[in-house]
Amino acid sequence: MTAKVIDGKAFAAGLREKIGGEVARLREEHGVVPGLAVVLVGEDPASQVYVRSKGRQTVEAGMESFEYRLPAETDQETLVTLIRDLNSDPKVHGILVQLPLPDQLDEALVIAEISPDKDVDGFHVSNVGLLNTGQASMVPCTPLGSLMLLKDQLGDLSGLEAVVVGRSNIVGKPMVQLLLGENCTVTLAHSRTKDLPAVTRRADILVAAVGRPEMIKGDWIKPGATVIDVGINRIPTTDGKSRLVGDVDYAAAAAVAGAITPVPGGVGPMTIACLLANTLTACCRQNDLPDVR
Ligand code: NDP
Repeated sequence: MTAKVIDGKAFAAGLREKIGGEVARLREEHGVVPGLAVVLVGEDPASQVYVRSKGRQTVEAGMESFEYRLPAETDQETLVTLIRDLNSDPKVHGILVQLPLPDQLDEALVIAEISPDKDVDGFHVSNVGLLNTGQASMVPCTPLGSLMLLKDQLGDLSGLEAVVVGRSNIVGKPMVQLLLGENCTVTLAHSRTKDLPAVTRRADILVAAVGRPEMIKGDWIKPGATVIDVGINRIPTTDGKSRLVGDVDYAAAAAVAGAITPVPGGVGPMTIACLLANTLTACCRQNDLPDVR
């Protein structure tokens, strides 16, 4: 068997196009332009790349992009003051503080300052609580994008056995809530899970969010399963360069699975597309307009 490749890049491009159409409609019919503020503290190279591409895609979708680049030594009070200003700025509908933050800053306290309505990353405890109790919330972008790919691939997920490997607050835990919301039977595995291969072999849906290159082997996968590889790991190659791989041994898994996301080109592009979707949703809610479906 050779798995179907789930083309997240193409799906994300389609989603961005749809969002662009809705943004144009909002502008024409209601005179409203969704605005996303991205705050970057310090000069982490990976974060700079993410922030650049978030800004570019925001503008391409017809939204307003506000970028704030603060020096690495920024103190908590300065950052909190900026967030409070953005909370009260009516042109800003979404606020994203790029993580990780430098050590002197307290991530939990910073996230708590973001107005839950503008928390397009879905990390504020109010949004976490709403998601966990099945209420309308801002949903973290990576799990949201992963769920979209799963539903596109499988349709109704009811009754399927889902295993999520990795229990972070930004991927694993919200992924579990989304899969529960779709009536899957969900297992959340982590570094203390006993006999992980036996657990993953039960999965009709396997979501890997571990951060360990190619950890999940072909024989850990149930034949025909749908595999969502969230991992993004850079590994050195023999020619002295590097390449990106996921948390799943792609070649071996593709021989067993029914469908699988590649790395790159799978979940990665969905994350920014979902950030734009969340900004659009936040804008609609803040203007008492119905959510766009
Ligand atoms: P974290 O480091 O926060 O969490 C990793 C999780 O994996 C932890 O729960 C940890 O368990 C678990 N884990 C570690 N080693 C093992 C092991 N040997 N067996 C089983 N479980 C293990 O990672 P993130 O959730 O932030 O990210 C995960 C991956 O996804 C990374 O590669 C990251 O780059 C990528 N990522 C990709 C995104 C995208 O846009 N595609 C967005 C966000 C992340 P424990 O809790 O017990 O320590």
